[in-house]
Amino acid sequence: MVKLWSSMAKRAMPYIPGEQLNRADTVKLNTNENPYPPSPSVVEAIRGETGDALRLYPSLTADRLRSTIADYYGVKDDEVFVGNGSDEVIAFSFMAFFEPGRTIRIPDITYSFYPVYAKLFNIPYEAVPLNEDFTLPIESFYQSEGGVIFPNPNAPTSLYIDLKYIEHIVEENRGRVVVIDEAYIDFAGASAVGLIRKYNNLLVVQTMSKSRSLAGMRVGFAIGHPSLMEALTRVKDSFNSYPIDRLAMVAAEASFKDQVYFEKTRRAILVTREQAKKRLTELGFDVLPSQTNFLFATHLTADAEELSVRLKNDGILVRHFNSPRIERYLRITVGTNDQMAILYERLQLHLKNIG
Ligand code: PMP
Repeated sequence: MVKLWSSMAKRAMPYIPGEQLNRADTVKLNTNENPYPPSPSVVEAIRGETGDALRLYPSLTADRLRSTIADYYGVKDDEVFVGNGSDEVIAFSFMAFFEPGRTIRIPDITYSFYPVYAKLFNIPYEAVPLNEDFTLPIESFYQSEGGVIFPNPNAPTSLYIDLKYIEHIVEENRGRVVVIDEAYIDFAGASAVGLIRKYNNLLVVQTMSKSRSLAGMRVGFAIGHPSLMEALTRVKDSFNSYPIDRLAMVAAEASFKDQVYFEKTRRAILVTREQAKKRLTELGFDVLPSQTNFLFATHLTADAEELSVRLKNDGILVRHFNSPRIERYLRITVGTNDQMAILYERLQLHLKNIG
């Protein structure tokens, strides 16, 4: 067993998460975290759980949280699964639904963790190139051999696919699981959750890390047919019986219950995003029409990597990818208006110096 895992680990390409700078004044726009704190009621719920309760194991089945999520989305409790961040839920999905010997399809230019999991769990995958304009070639995802996974909206391109196309893909893959990773859906259009009753091969994965400011608590969840939830639970139980810890559990519940705060911060990000698109365009960037809490932008003349290095020296982190096709792009998380003002000012200066 040890041998098996160590050889698997060697084959796997590690995922390198966004950099952290240990400077208090860092403007951190590189990992798509929410720039606003979680709701005060979340903080209060965590405080309430930090005393004697910590002696006790958390719920094995996360019933209260699953029920809160089910109410929020209008589904049943047994159609919800929770895990330690959506990364864990996605890893469990690879183990539960994809098989060695059956090729799955992912887009080429997508969330960089999918190939990592595919290699780790020995799942062959075909990376289907996005269209010239970075949209998803819908029909290329029909009739996959082993299943499909992609984000909607996609990352790092920030583009959202209309639900009718998602439905076509799910329909054309009956008998295989289609995982739609909706990490950024709260900044976009409709969720595919509404389709789960119609398709028992659709798994919708969401996270509390982005629109709900809880990246540090690690809570993600999946919604789908009860048989898919059972398969995920079997995988989870073979690693760790407890789904998430007590603090994460109460934090997540409180977040879903404070709809007013959620809407307020969500809207603030949407407004800043549209202002940022305009401002970056004025600075000479071509910005894709984002439906996420980040912008994917390329400068018409300046080198993206050089810009990212110059910004880093200023204490501003944005994401640059060294991969073909997108090496001229930057992925910039939507921050607070103050953070964005600092970004524009520094960009303007660097663009003048480079130009
Ligand atoms: N999916 C996508 C597309 C993402 O960008 C991210 C965040 N890096 C995740 C999943 C994972 O989010 P988390 O594990 O914090 O829930």
